[in-house]
Amino acid sequence: MNCPNCESPQNKLQDIAVSTTSVQREKLCLQCGLEFITIEEFISDTFLVRKKDGRKERFNKEKLFNSLAHAAHKKHAVPDALTKLATEVEEQVVTQGNEIESRLLAEVVMNRLKRVDMVTYIRYAASYRAFVSADELLDDIRTTLDNFTYIPPEQPLLFDVDVVPNTESNNSETVIRLQSS
Ligand SMILES: [Zn+2]
Repeated sequence: MNCPNCESPQNKLQDIAVSTTSVQREKLCLQCGLEFITIEEFISDTFLVRKKDGRKERFNKEKLFNSLAHAAHKKHAVPDALTKLATEVEEQVVTQGNEIESRLLAEVVMNRLKRVDMVTYIRYAASYRAFVSADELLDDIRTTLDNFTYIPPEQPLLFDVDVVPNTESNNSETVIRLQSS
């Protein structure tokens, strides 16, 4: 790769870091002196999910969506949000390596799901998380509910906006006062 600054092909390798999926090279441009890093990455088109018993299966977004749709009670079905969630989960996990433990995948899903739909989250958690006891499940639900704030869309966040007349001056300007809540 040529220098991103002066495009000179003349550079010196300063450092190299090798992992199982990537090689990172720190280079010094011999013409302009810029230090830059190049990354060579292994990209797999198959992302694997490692199950509890050690078996691996190909990550399947459709399957993830179906499990979410199954957890979503008819009344609470939010197909668009679930499709979006499945895509976001895929994007998040696939960039982190070539495989993921099914338990971790469920954690990633649940962390996002609890912000989308509480009932679906609880149903999903009950069937996909290996809760030791019903108490543990209830504790988790309580903690989640405690941390759960529903923010309606298109409403001011964090501030209450008060519009008050500006009495200090004679013109008709108004002052927007922001109060943190
Ligand atoms: Zn250069």
